[in-house]
Amino acid sequence: MDGRESPMRLLVVEDDIPIQQFLKRALVGAGYQVDTASTAQAGETMALEGIHDALIIDLGLPDLDGLDLIARCRAHGNAAPVLILSARRSVDERVRGLEQGGDDYLTKPFALPELLARLRNLLRRSAVPQNESVRLQAADLQLDLVRREARRGENLLQLTPQEFSLLEYLCRNEGRVVTRTMILDHVWKMRIDPATNVVDVHIYRLRSKVDHDTPRPLIHTIRGVGYVLKHA
Ligand code: CA
Repeated sequence: MDGRESPMRLLVVEDDIPIQQFLKRALVGAGYQVDTASTAQAGETMALEGIHDALIIDLGLPDLDGLDLIARCRAHGNAAPVLILSARRSVDERVRGLEQGGDDYLTKPFALPELLARLRNLLRRSAVPQNESVRLQAADLQLDLVRREARRGENLLQLTPQEFSLLEYLCRNEGRVVTRTMILDHVWKMRIDPATNVVDVHIYRLRSKVDHDTPRPLIHTIRGVGYVLKHA
């Protein structure tokens, strides 16, 4: 380690090209690496690569509302902090933005120093604390939280970002039963009807990868309650 940190990488989704380019120049000038997208669709594709430390998303996009874009990113397991940019000023709109998975909200027109300050706050809040391990382990299951890689023994597991987040949550709660509602709150980070079977479907897929072909399964169903990751 040479002590230098690699630059934080940001994604700006904004269809107003002058604002998009202004933001890019300003953020690059502030030391960030910046990718840009002008539509929600392009933004979603880039966001789902999971390589960005924070997303800056305009609400008024040509193909999809920015709020829906955020919801889709969250549903696919992207947990990067989101700064919402919007010309909408009503309190209701702001509350809705924050409830749908945005982490902070900035109304246009905005002052650049305020944007930078809010961004620094978001990045600081989401940073892995220095004293927190970047690895989790349960039996022969290992999670690398920086690379977002999971191994069972020697085998690298091919997990989607959502499956990784789910496995991480189970691992952090090793030996403790977690309910579907807890999983929805912590992994999906959005309000979904707890009656949905989205958790069960993801657990099923995750289990087929983590516990495939092993006499020692780690993911157990506690009927009527939820799930627990434990080794016998
Ligand atoms: Ca716009």
